[in-house]
Amino acid sequence: MQVIFARRARTPDGWKQNVRITCKGGVISTIEPDSTAQADDTRVDTLLPSLANLHSHSFQRAMAGMTEFRAAGKDSFWTWRDLMYRFVEHISPEQYQAIAALTFMEMQEAGYASVGEFHYVHNQHGGQHYDNQAELSEQVFAAACQTGIGLTHLPVLYSYGGADKAELNGGQMRFGNSVETYATLVESIRKSAEQTLPVDTCVGIAPHSLRATCPEDLAQVLHLAQDKPIHIHIAEQPKEVSDIQAWLGARPVEWLLANTPVSDQWCLIHATHMTGAETQNMARSGAIAGLCPITEANLGDGPFNGVAFLANDGAFGVGSDSNVCISLSEELRTLEYSQRLRDLGRNVIIPGEGSVGDVLYLGAATGGAKALNRNAGRIETGALADLVAIDSTSPALCALREDQLLDGLCFAANGTVVTDLWSAGRHQVQSGHHINRDQIVTSYKAAMSDLLASI
Ligand code: ZN
Repeated sequence: MQVIFARRARTPDGWKQNVRITCKGGVISTIEPDSTAQADDTRVDTLLPSLANLHSHSFQRAMAGMTEFRAAGKDSFWTWRDLMYRFVEHISPEQYQAIAALTFMEMQEAGYASVGEFHYVHNQHGGQHYDNQAELSEQVFAAACQTGIGLTHLPVLYSYGGADKAELNGGQMRFGNSVETYATLVESIRKSAEQTLPVDTCVGIAPHSLRATCPEDLAQVLHLAQDKPIHIHIAEQPKEVSDIQAWLGARPVEWLLANTPVSDQWCLIHATHMTGAETQNMARSGAIAGLCPITEANLGDGPFNGVAFLANDGAFGVGSDSNVCISLSEELRTLEYSQRLRDLGRNVIIPGEGSVGDVLYLGAATGGAKALNRNAGRIETGALADLVAIDSTSPALCALREDQLLDGLCFAANGTVVTDLWSAGRHQVQSGHHINRDQIVTSYKAAMSDLLASI
Protein backbone atom coordinates (compact mmCIF):
# COMPACT_ATOMS: atom_id res chain seq x y z
CA MET A 1 0.00 0.00 0.00
CA GLN A 2 1.20 3.53 -0.65
CA VAL A 3 -0.22 6.91 0.18
CA ILE A 4 0.11 10.10 -1.84
CA PHE A 5 -0.64 13.45 -0.28
CA ALA A 6 -1.41 16.15 -2.87
CA ARG A 7 -1.77 19.83 -2.12
CA ARG A 8 -4.49 19.70 -4.74
CA ALA A 9 -5.87 17.05 -7.07
CA ARG A 10 -8.14 17.16 -10.10
CA THR A 11 -11.03 14.74 -9.55
CA PRO A 12 -14.13 14.23 -11.72
CA ASP A 13 -15.84 16.67 -9.30
CA GLY A 14 -13.25 19.37 -9.91
CA TRP A 15 -10.25 20.49 -7.89
CA LYS A 16 -9.93 19.24 -4.29
CA GLN A 17 -7.48 20.47 -1.68
CA ASN A 18 -5.16 18.53 0.64
CA VAL A 19 -6.03 15.16 -0.80
CA ARG A 20 -4.75 11.85 0.66
CA ILE A 21 -4.92 9.03 -1.88
CA THR A 22 -4.33 5.42 -0.93
CA CYS A 23 -3.32 2.91 -3.61
CA LYS A 24 -3.45 -0.85 -3.20
CA GLY A 25 -2.43 -3.33 -5.89
CA GLY A 26 -2.07 -0.53 -8.44
CA VAL A 27 -5.62 0.72 -7.86
CA ILE A 28 -6.88 3.83 -6.06
CA SER A 29 -8.62 2.56 -2.93
CA THR A 30 -9.44 5.75 -1.01
CA ILE A 31 -9.52 9.49 -1.76
CA GLU A 32 -9.77 11.87 1.20
CA PRO A 33 -9.90 15.60 0.46
CA ASP A 34 -9.26 18.15 3.24
CA SER A 35 -6.87 15.76 5.02
CA THR A 36 -3.59 16.19 6.83
CA ALA A 37 -0.38 14.59 5.55
CA GLN A 38 1.11 11.71 7.56
CA ALA A 39 4.82 11.14 8.03
CA ASP A 40 5.25 8.42 5.38
CA ASP A 41 3.04 9.97 2.68
CA THR A 42 4.61 10.81 -0.68
CA ARG A 43 3.96 14.54 -0.92
CA VAL A 44 3.28 16.23 -4.24
CA ASP A 45 1.99 19.60 -5.34
CA THR A 46 -0.71 19.13 -7.99
CA LEU A 47 -1.98 15.66 -8.88
CA LEU A 48 -3.68 14.82 -12.18
CA PRO A 49 -4.90 11.68 -13.87
CA SER A 50 -2.03 10.68 -16.14
CA LEU A 51 -2.59 10.30 -19.86
CA ALA A 52 -2.28 7.19 -21.95
CA ASN A 53 -0.03 7.58 -24.97
CA LEU A 54 -2.32 5.72 -27.34
CA HIS A 55 -0.05 5.28 -30.35
CA SER A 56 3.67 4.58 -30.49
CA HIS A 57 6.20 2.83 -32.70
CA SER A 58 8.94 2.95 -30.09
CA PHE A 59 11.88 1.97 -32.34
CA GLN A 60 11.31 5.06 -34.48
CA ARG A 61 12.69 7.17 -31.60
CA ALA A 62 16.11 6.05 -32.85
CA MET A 63 15.76 8.00 -36.11
CA ALA A 64 14.47 11.25 -34.58
CA GLY A 65 16.26 14.21 -36.15
CA MET A 66 17.64 12.19 -39.06
CA THR A 67 14.98 13.06 -41.61
CA GLU A 68 14.85 16.86 -41.40
CA PHE A 69 17.25 17.46 -44.28
CA ARG A 70 15.74 18.52 -47.58
CA ALA A 71 17.26 16.61 -50.45
CA ALA A 72 16.95 17.68 -54.08
CA GLY A 73 13.38 17.30 -55.25
CA LYS A 74 10.35 17.28 -52.98
CA ASP A 75 10.75 15.59 -49.64
CA SER A 76 7.69 13.74 -48.42
CA PHE A 77 6.16 11.17 -46.09
CA TRP A 78 7.26 8.44 -48.46
CA THR A 79 10.96 9.35 -48.32
CA TRP A 80 10.68 9.39 -44.51
CA ARG A 81 9.29 5.89 -44.78
CA ASP A 82 12.31 4.79 -46.82
CA LEU A 83 14.70 5.71 -44.00
CA MET A 84 12.45 3.96 -41.50
CA TYR A 85 12.69 0.81 -43.61
CA ARG A 86 16.51 1.05 -43.64
CA PHE A 87 16.50 1.13 -39.86
CA VAL A 88 14.10 -1.77 -39.75
CA GLU A 89 16.36 -3.89 -41.96
CA HIS A 90 19.21 -3.71 -39.46
CA ILE A 91 17.79 -3.45 -35.96
CA SER A 92 18.50 -6.45 -33.66
CA PRO A 93 16.26 -7.72 -30.84
CA GLU A 94 18.64 -6.37 -28.17
CA GLN A 95 18.75 -2.95 -29.84
CA TYR A 96 14.99 -3.03 -30.12
CA GLN A 97 14.67 -3.45 -26.36
CA ALA A 98 17.16 -0.70 -25.52
CA ILE A 99 15.45 1.80 -27.82
CA ALA A 100 11.96 0.90 -26.54
CA ALA A 101 13.11 1.32 -22.93
CA LEU A 102 14.46 4.82 -23.61
CA THR A 103 11.24 5.74 -25.43
CA PHE A 104 9.00 4.46 -22.63
CA MET A 105 11.13 6.22 -20.00
CA GLU A 106 10.84 9.52 -21.87
CA MET A 107 7.09 9.06 -22.10
CA GLN A 108 6.83 8.61 -18.34
CA GLU A 109 9.01 11.63 -17.68
CA ALA A 110 6.70 13.60 -20.00
CA GLY A 111 3.63 12.52 -17.99
CA TYR A 112 2.29 9.45 -19.78
CA ALA A 113 1.55 6.45 -17.51
CA SER A 114 0.86 3.99 -20.30
CA VAL A 115 1.49 3.34 -23.95
CA GLY A 116 -0.26 1.67 -26.86
CA GLU A 117 2.65 0.04 -28.67
CA PHE A 118 1.54 -0.51 -32.27
CA HIS A 119 4.10 -3.16 -32.98
CA TYR A 120 4.77 -4.26 -36.54
CA VAL A 121 8.36 -5.53 -36.69
CA HIS A 122 7.94 -9.25 -36.09
CA ASN A 123 10.36 -11.12 -38.38
CA GLN A 124 14.04 -11.58 -39.07
CA HIS A 125 15.82 -9.78 -41.87
CA GLY A 126 14.38 -11.19 -45.12
CA GLY A 127 11.08 -12.16 -43.57
CA GLN A 128 11.75 -15.44 -41.74
CA HIS A 129 9.90 -15.76 -38.44
CA TYR A 130 12.11 -15.98 -35.37
CA ASP A 131 12.21 -19.43 -33.71
CA ASN A 132 10.10 -17.75 -31.06
CA GLN A 133 7.53 -15.94 -33.17
CA ALA A 134 6.97 -13.40 -30.38
CA GLU A 135 10.71 -12.58 -30.05
CA LEU A 136 10.42 -8.85 -30.77
CA SER A 137 7.22 -8.41 -28.77
CA GLU A 138 9.09 -9.94 -25.85
CA GLN A 139 11.79 -7.27 -26.26
CA VAL A 140 9.02 -4.68 -25.93
CA PHE A 141 7.81 -6.52 -22.82
CA ALA A 142 11.32 -6.39 -21.34
CA ALA A 143 11.37 -2.62 -21.94
CA ALA A 144 7.96 -2.30 -20.30
CA CYS A 145 9.25 -4.24 -17.26
CA GLN A 146 12.39 -2.13 -17.03
CA THR A 147 10.43 1.13 -17.13
CA GLY A 148 7.25 0.00 -15.36
CA ILE A 149 5.08 1.70 -17.98
CA GLY A 150 1.54 0.37 -18.42
CA LEU A 151 1.52 -1.52 -21.71
CA THR A 152 -1.27 -2.14 -24.17
CA HIS A 153 0.50 -4.18 -26.80
CA LEU A 154 -0.97 -4.08 -30.29
CA PRO A 155 0.64 -6.68 -32.57
CA VAL A 156 0.15 -5.61 -36.16
CA LEU A 157 -1.17 -7.60 -39.10
CA TYR A 158 0.79 -6.38 -42.14
CA SER A 159 0.37 -8.58 -45.21
CA TYR A 160 0.71 -6.35 -48.26
CA GLY A 161 3.07 -3.65 -49.50
CA GLY A 162 0.24 -1.36 -50.63
CA ALA A 163 -3.36 -1.09 -51.77
CA ASP A 164 -4.82 -3.93 -53.87
CA LYS A 165 -2.56 -6.58 -52.34
CA ALA A 166 0.78 -5.30 -53.60
CA GLU A 167 3.60 -7.62 -52.56
CA LEU A 168 5.77 -6.89 -49.55
CA ASN A 169 9.30 -5.87 -50.39
CA GLY A 170 12.57 -4.70 -48.80
CA GLY A 171 12.21 -3.61 -45.18
CA GLN A 172 8.55 -4.63 -45.19
CA MET A 173 9.58 -8.31 -45.13
CA ARG A 174 10.16 -7.97 -41.39
CA PHE A 175 6.50 -7.01 -40.87
CA GLY A 176 4.74 -9.75 -42.82
CA ASN A 177 2.18 -12.24 -41.55
CA SER A 178 -0.68 -14.17 -43.11
CA VAL A 179 -3.99 -14.43 -41.27
CA GLU A 180 -2.88 -17.87 -40.04
CA THR A 181 0.57 -16.90 -38.76
CA TYR A 182 -0.91 -13.75 -37.24
CA ALA A 183 -3.36 -15.82 -35.18
CA THR A 184 -0.54 -17.94 -33.72
CA LEU A 185 1.52 -14.81 -33.10
CA VAL A 186 -1.27 -13.13 -31.12
CA GLU A 187 -1.80 -16.28 -29.09
CA SER A 188 1.86 -16.62 -28.22
CA ILE A 189 2.14 -12.91 -27.36
CA ARG A 190 -0.85 -13.20 -25.02
CA LYS A 191 0.67 -16.20 -23.25
CA SER A 192 3.98 -14.47 -22.84
CA ALA A 193 2.37 -11.24 -21.57
CA GLU A 194 0.42 -13.18 -18.98
CA GLN A 195 3.58 -14.83 -17.70
CA THR A 196 5.87 -11.82 -17.59
CA LEU A 197 3.92 -8.58 -17.24
CA PRO A 198 1.74 -7.03 -14.53
CA VAL A 199 -2.04 -7.47 -14.57
CA ASP A 200 -2.74 -4.02 -16.01
CA THR A 201 -1.15 -5.19 -19.30
CA CYS A 202 -3.47 -5.66 -22.25
CA VAL A 203 -2.97 -7.27 -25.67
CA GLY A 204 -5.24 -6.03 -28.46
CA ILE A 205 -4.91 -6.30 -32.23
CA ALA A 206 -3.92 -3.90 -34.99
CA PRO A 207 -4.61 -4.52 -38.64
CA HIS A 208 -1.98 -2.03 -39.87
CA SER A 209 -4.14 -0.12 -42.37
CA LEU A 210 -6.52 -0.88 -45.19
CA ARG A 211 -3.58 -0.69 -47.61
CA ALA A 212 -1.55 -3.34 -45.71
CA THR A 213 -4.44 -5.80 -45.32
CA CYS A 214 -7.44 -6.63 -47.50
CA PRO A 215 -11.18 -6.81 -46.77
CA GLU A 216 -11.25 -10.64 -46.54
CA ASP A 217 -8.27 -10.83 -44.16
CA LEU A 218 -9.62 -8.00 -42.03
CA ALA A 219 -12.93 -9.82 -41.60
CA GLN A 220 -11.08 -12.96 -40.52
CA VAL A 221 -8.89 -11.44 -37.81
CA LEU A 222 -11.34 -9.20 -35.94
CA HIS A 223 -12.44 -12.01 -33.60
CA LEU A 224 -8.86 -12.30 -32.33
CA ALA A 225 -9.40 -9.02 -30.49
CA GLN A 226 -11.87 -10.76 -28.13
CA ASP A 227 -13.05 -7.79 -26.05
CA LYS A 228 -9.70 -5.94 -26.34
CA PRO A 229 -8.87 -2.87 -28.44
CA ILE A 230 -8.65 -2.83 -32.24
CA HIS A 231 -6.37 -0.12 -33.64
CA ILE A 232 -5.83 0.75 -37.31
CA HIS A 233 -4.06 3.50 -39.29
CA ILE A 234 -6.79 4.91 -41.46
CA ALA A 235 -6.42 8.09 -43.55
CA GLU A 236 -3.05 9.69 -42.91
CA GLN A 237 -2.05 10.83 -46.38
CA PRO A 238 -4.02 12.00 -49.45
CA LYS A 239 -2.29 9.28 -51.51
CA GLU A 240 -3.63 6.67 -49.10
CA VAL A 241 -7.15 8.03 -49.56
CA SER A 242 -6.94 8.01 -53.36
CA ASP A 243 -5.33 4.53 -53.46
CA ILE A 244 -8.12 3.08 -51.30
CA GLN A 245 -10.79 4.90 -53.26
CA ALA A 246 -9.44 3.49 -56.52
CA TRP A 247 -9.27 -0.02 -55.06
CA LEU A 248 -12.34 -0.31 -52.81
CA GLY A 249 -14.57 2.41 -54.25
CA ALA A 250 -14.80 4.43 -51.04
CA ARG A 251 -12.64 6.67 -48.88
CA PRO A 252 -10.89 4.79 -46.04
CA VAL A 253 -13.02 5.99 -43.10
CA GLU A 254 -16.17 5.73 -45.20
CA TRP A 255 -15.27 2.15 -46.22
CA LEU A 256 -14.36 1.08 -42.69
CA LEU A 257 -17.57 2.43 -41.16
CA ALA A 258 -19.69 0.77 -43.87
CA ASN A 259 -17.96 -2.63 -43.82
CA THR A 260 -16.80 -3.37 -40.26
CA PRO A 261 -18.55 -3.19 -36.87
CA VAL A 262 -16.72 -0.04 -35.73
CA SER A 263 -17.53 0.81 -32.10
CA ASP A 264 -15.82 2.24 -29.03
CA GLN A 265 -13.60 -0.87 -29.05
CA TRP A 266 -11.85 0.72 -32.02
CA CYS A 267 -9.21 3.40 -32.24
CA LEU A 268 -8.71 5.02 -35.65
CA ILE A 269 -5.20 6.40 -35.92
CA HIS A 270 -4.64 9.43 -38.15
CA ALA A 271 -8.24 9.89 -39.28
CA THR A 272 -6.80 13.03 -40.83
CA HIS A 273 -8.46 13.14 -44.20
CA MET A 274 -12.22 12.92 -43.67
CA THR A 275 -15.20 14.60 -45.28
CA GLY A 276 -17.79 16.28 -43.05
CA ALA A 277 -20.01 13.20 -43.26
CA GLU A 278 -17.14 10.85 -42.37
CA THR A 279 -16.26 13.06 -39.40
CA GLN A 280 -19.80 13.00 -38.08
CA ASN A 281 -20.26 9.27 -38.65
CA MET A 282 -16.96 8.39 -37.02
CA ALA A 283 -17.84 10.50 -33.96
CA ARG A 284 -21.20 8.72 -33.71
CA SER A 285 -19.60 5.27 -34.02
CA GLY A 286 -17.89 5.79 -30.64
CA ALA A 287 -14.47 4.97 -32.13
CA ILE A 288 -11.66 6.92 -30.53
CA ALA A 289 -9.71 9.27 -32.77
CA GLY A 290 -6.04 8.46 -32.19
CA LEU A 291 -4.39 11.81 -32.87
CA CYS A 292 -0.63 12.26 -33.11
CA PRO A 293 -0.33 16.00 -33.72
CA ILE A 294 3.47 16.33 -33.49
CA THR A 295 4.12 13.45 -35.89
CA GLU A 296 1.29 14.52 -38.18
CA ALA A 297 2.84 17.99 -38.35
CA ASN A 298 6.34 16.57 -38.81
CA LEU A 299 5.21 14.36 -41.69
CA GLY A 300 3.08 17.09 -43.26
CA ASP A 301 -0.09 15.01 -43.00
CA GLY A 302 -2.51 17.90 -42.47
CA PRO A 303 -4.83 18.93 -39.65
CA PHE A 304 -7.54 16.69 -38.17
CA ASN A 305 -11.17 17.88 -38.33
CA GLY A 306 -11.00 18.51 -34.58
CA VAL A 307 -13.60 21.24 -34.33
CA ALA A 308 -16.31 19.27 -36.14
CA PHE A 309 -15.35 16.00 -34.43
CA LEU A 310 -15.62 17.43 -30.92
CA ALA A 311 -18.81 19.30 -31.81
CA ASN A 312 -20.25 15.84 -32.55
CA ASP A 313 -19.06 14.50 -29.15
CA GLY A 314 -16.26 12.48 -30.72
CA ALA A 315 -13.85 10.74 -28.33
CA PHE A 316 -10.14 11.35 -28.81
CA GLY A 317 -6.73 10.70 -27.31
CA VAL A 318 -3.15 11.49 -28.28
CA GLY A 319 -0.13 9.43 -29.20
CA SER A 320 3.50 10.19 -29.93
CA ASP A 321 3.60 7.84 -32.95
CA SER A 322 7.06 8.35 -34.54
CA ASN A 323 8.40 9.66 -31.19
CA VAL A 324 10.32 12.41 -32.99
CA CYS A 325 9.70 14.52 -29.87
CA ILE A 326 8.06 13.09 -26.77
CA SER A 327 6.18 15.90 -25.05
CA LEU A 328 2.68 15.57 -23.69
CA SER A 329 2.03 19.30 -23.44
CA GLU A 330 3.39 19.93 -26.94
CA GLU A 331 1.23 17.12 -28.33
CA LEU A 332 -1.91 18.73 -26.88
CA ARG A 333 -1.10 22.28 -27.91
CA THR A 334 -0.11 21.20 -31.43
CA LEU A 335 -3.59 19.72 -31.77
CA GLU A 336 -5.22 23.05 -30.87
CA TYR A 337 -2.70 25.09 -32.88
CA SER A 338 -3.34 23.01 -36.02
CA GLN A 339 -6.99 24.06 -35.78
CA ARG A 340 -6.12 27.73 -35.14
CA LEU A 341 -3.77 27.87 -38.12
CA ARG A 342 -6.39 26.39 -40.41
CA ASP A 343 -9.36 28.36 -39.06
CA LEU A 344 -7.58 31.67 -38.37
CA GLY A 345 -9.03 31.86 -34.86
CA ARG A 346 -8.16 31.21 -31.22
CA ASN A 347 -9.54 28.68 -28.72
CA VAL A 348 -11.32 26.86 -31.51
CA ILE A 349 -11.42 23.15 -30.64
CA ILE A 350 -13.73 23.58 -27.68
CA PRO A 351 -17.46 23.23 -28.27
CA GLY A 352 -19.13 26.10 -26.37
CA GLU A 353 -17.29 28.06 -23.65
CA GLY A 354 -14.59 27.10 -21.20
CA SER A 355 -10.96 26.24 -20.69
CA VAL A 356 -9.28 24.77 -23.76
CA GLY A 357 -6.69 23.11 -21.53
CA ASP A 358 -9.41 21.30 -19.59
CA VAL A 359 -11.04 20.02 -22.77
CA LEU A 360 -7.73 18.90 -24.29
CA TYR A 361 -6.22 17.33 -21.18
CA LEU A 362 -9.27 15.71 -19.62
CA GLY A 363 -10.68 14.66 -23.00
CA ALA A 364 -7.41 12.97 -23.94
CA ALA A 365 -7.24 11.34 -20.49
CA THR A 366 -10.66 9.73 -20.91
CA GLY A 367 -10.30 8.81 -24.59
CA GLY A 368 -6.73 7.55 -24.26
CA ALA A 369 -7.61 5.25 -21.36
CA LYS A 370 -10.57 3.89 -23.28
CA ALA A 371 -8.45 3.28 -26.39
CA LEU A 372 -5.93 1.27 -24.35
CA ASN A 373 -8.58 -0.60 -22.36
CA ARG A 374 -7.26 0.86 -19.08
CA ASN A 375 -9.60 1.65 -16.24
CA ALA A 376 -7.90 5.03 -15.85
CA GLY A 377 -8.01 8.63 -17.00
CA ARG A 378 -9.64 9.93 -13.80
CA ILE A 379 -8.77 10.13 -10.10
CA GLU A 380 -11.52 7.96 -8.70
CA THR A 381 -11.81 5.05 -6.28
CA GLY A 382 -11.47 1.75 -8.15
CA ALA A 383 -9.53 3.25 -11.08
CA LEU A 384 -5.91 2.35 -11.81
CA ALA A 385 -3.41 4.64 -10.10
CA ASP A 386 -2.18 6.17 -13.38
CA LEU A 387 -1.20 9.49 -11.86
CA VAL A 388 1.07 12.42 -12.60
CA ALA A 389 2.18 15.22 -10.31
CA ILE A 390 3.15 18.64 -11.62
CA ASP A 391 4.73 21.55 -9.78
CA SER A 392 2.38 24.52 -9.84
CA THR A 393 5.07 26.67 -8.20
CA SER A 394 7.36 26.39 -11.26
CA PRO A 395 7.85 29.64 -13.22
CA ALA A 396 5.61 28.47 -16.08
CA LEU A 397 2.64 27.92 -13.77
CA CYS A 398 3.15 29.94 -10.57
CA ALA A 399 1.11 32.98 -11.64
CA LEU A 400 -1.94 30.97 -12.65
CA ARG A 401 -5.18 30.44 -10.79
CA GLU A 402 -6.24 26.86 -10.15
CA ASP A 403 -8.79 27.00 -12.97
CA GLN A 404 -6.01 28.05 -15.38
CA LEU A 405 -3.55 25.28 -14.46
CA LEU A 406 -4.42 22.91 -17.30
CA ASP A 407 -4.29 25.81 -19.76
CA GLY A 408 -0.82 26.56 -18.40
CA LEU A 409 0.23 22.92 -18.64
CA CYS A 410 -0.98 22.64 -22.25
CA PHE A 411 0.18 26.01 -23.62
CA ALA A 412 2.87 27.50 -21.38
CA ALA A 413 4.80 24.61 -19.87
CA ASN A 414 6.87 21.63 -20.93
CA GLY A 415 7.82 18.32 -19.35
CA THR A 416 10.01 19.94 -16.70
CA VAL A 417 6.92 20.66 -14.56
CA VAL A 418 6.37 16.90 -14.10
CA THR A 419 7.75 15.79 -10.73
CA ASP A 420 6.26 12.32 -10.19
CA LEU A 421 4.49 9.66 -12.16
CA TRP A 422 2.79 6.41 -11.24
CA SER A 423 1.90 3.73 -13.78
CA ALA A 424 -0.74 1.54 -12.11
CA GLY A 425 0.72 2.53 -8.76
CA ARG A 426 4.36 1.94 -9.81
CA HIS A 427 6.16 5.12 -8.77
CA GLN A 428 8.57 5.34 -11.74
CA VAL A 429 9.30 9.06 -11.97
CA GLN A 430 10.51 10.80 -8.83
CA SER A 431 11.84 14.36 -8.60
CA GLY A 432 11.43 14.67 -12.36
CA HIS A 433 13.56 11.64 -13.31
CA HIS A 434 12.83 8.03 -14.06
CA ILE A 435 14.23 5.84 -11.30
CA ASN A 436 16.14 3.64 -13.82
CA ARG A 437 17.26 6.54 -16.04
CA ASP A 438 21.05 6.03 -15.89
CA GLN A 439 20.95 2.36 -16.81
CA ILE A 440 18.39 2.91 -19.59
CA VAL A 441 20.39 5.77 -21.16
CA THR A 442 23.65 3.80 -21.03
CA SER A 443 22.07 0.81 -22.81
CA TYR A 444 20.45 3.10 -25.40
CA LYS A 445 23.72 4.79 -26.29
CA ALA A 446 25.49 1.47 -26.72
CA ALA A 447 22.65 0.09 -28.86
CA MET A 448 22.60 3.19 -31.08
CA SER A 449 26.30 3.13 -31.67
CA ASP A 450 26.07 -0.52 -32.80
CA LEU A 451 22.99 0.10 -34.92
CA LEU A 452 24.40 3.14 -36.72
CA ALA A 453 27.64 1.28 -37.43
CA SER A 454 25.62 -1.49 -39.12
CA ILE A 455 23.44 0.70 -41.36
ZN1 ZN B 1 1.59 4.97 -36.58
